[in-house]
Amino acid sequence: MMVYNGQLTPDEAARIATDVGPQVKTVDEVAAKATELLCPMCGGHLTVDDEKHQIVCRFCGYHQPQPEQSKTPAHQEEALLMALLKRKGQPVIWHVAKRVVQCQQCGAEHTITADKLSERCRFCGSTQVIISDALRSFEQPEALIPFHVTPLDAMNAVEKQLNSVNERLLHPFTSPKVEQHLAEGVFLPFWIFNCTAQITRIMTVFKPNMMSEQSQSSTLDVLNDIPISGVKSPTPSLVQAIANYEMSAAVGYDPKWLAKIPARLYQIDFDKASFDAREIASQAMRRKYKSDERHESNTSRNNQQTISIHQLSQIQSMTFHLMLLPLWIVLLGDKRIALVNGQTGKAAIGTM
Ligand SMILES: [Zn+2]
Ligand SMILES: [Zn+2]
Repeated sequence: MMVYNGQLTPDEAARIATDVGPQVKTVDEVAAKATELLCPMCGGHLTVDDEKHQIVCRFCGYHQPQPEQSKTPAHQEEALLMALLKRKGQPVIWHVAKRVVQCQQCGAEHTITADKLSERCRFCGSTQVIISDALRSFEQPEALIPFHVTPLDAMNAVEKQLNSVNERLLHPFTSPKVEQHLAEGVFLPFWIFNCTAQITRIMTVFKPNMMSEQSQSSTLDVLNDIPISGVKSPTPSLVQAIANYEMSAAVGYDPKWLAKIPARLYQIDFDKASFDAREIASQAMRRKYKSDERHESNTSRNNQQTISIHQLSQIQSMTFHLMLLPLWIVLLGDKRIALVNGQTGKAAIGTM
């Protein structure tokens, strides 16, 4: 059926049917294609205006037009089930250690570790953003949230957090100083999941000396925008502590957004991340739809009844997309790191 709809190739469908699954192969180096971030008017290097949240050229004053805010989101949602099937239909899944790109500006060759999406050319200084590689071992982000918090705001948020009561109780004898020059801005990749759950509600009414009555109903509920970090470092638990992003501010991904601040490439793939998202959604649904039992009694003694409500929630479908989210990493004097949400300014401090 999915072959008929054009979602799977006949080859993919055949491999899924054999139930073997893809081979995982590791390769040290692969050739990759990068794009340069140049002004379409004068050819100068583009940058990002942090106040106007716009891609601009300092040389000729070019401003990239902002995409109009429309009702349709800036990105494509992918159905998890379909993506997992497609993955299973692949002959090989590649694990790449490094990618080799040629600078579009000066022609120099660079070796970029697999956890980076962009890097500055050390010969000419231009930013190179990887678009694809010869093994098609990764996918590009769908959307991005620009930085709203300046490095100075980030430092202040960390100072404030360090002076908070909780932090002082945890580390009473240390007073780490924030080292101004060690705030590093980075776009981190996140898999963003939307979950739909089916809620089944079974109500049983027990009355004395009578048959119990049972009724059942079901509804759907959704939990959207669950962010799961696609990197192993900083630790996912620390990243999760500041991941309160306001997703409505997202724009469609354009490599030019990385003109000023570099981006990482995901190391944790969507299939693995989907387990965490499913767990978060299941827990939230269980908290929201609790089972319950209550006794109702009336003055007349024959009118006592017990109502038992049993609620079951089951994740029915999930969709996802890949996003880059802004983050400041601040190194503290005692070697701990602090993270600051680059959109909301929320700070969290890591453990030793
Ligand atoms: Zn220009
Ligand atoms: Zn170069």
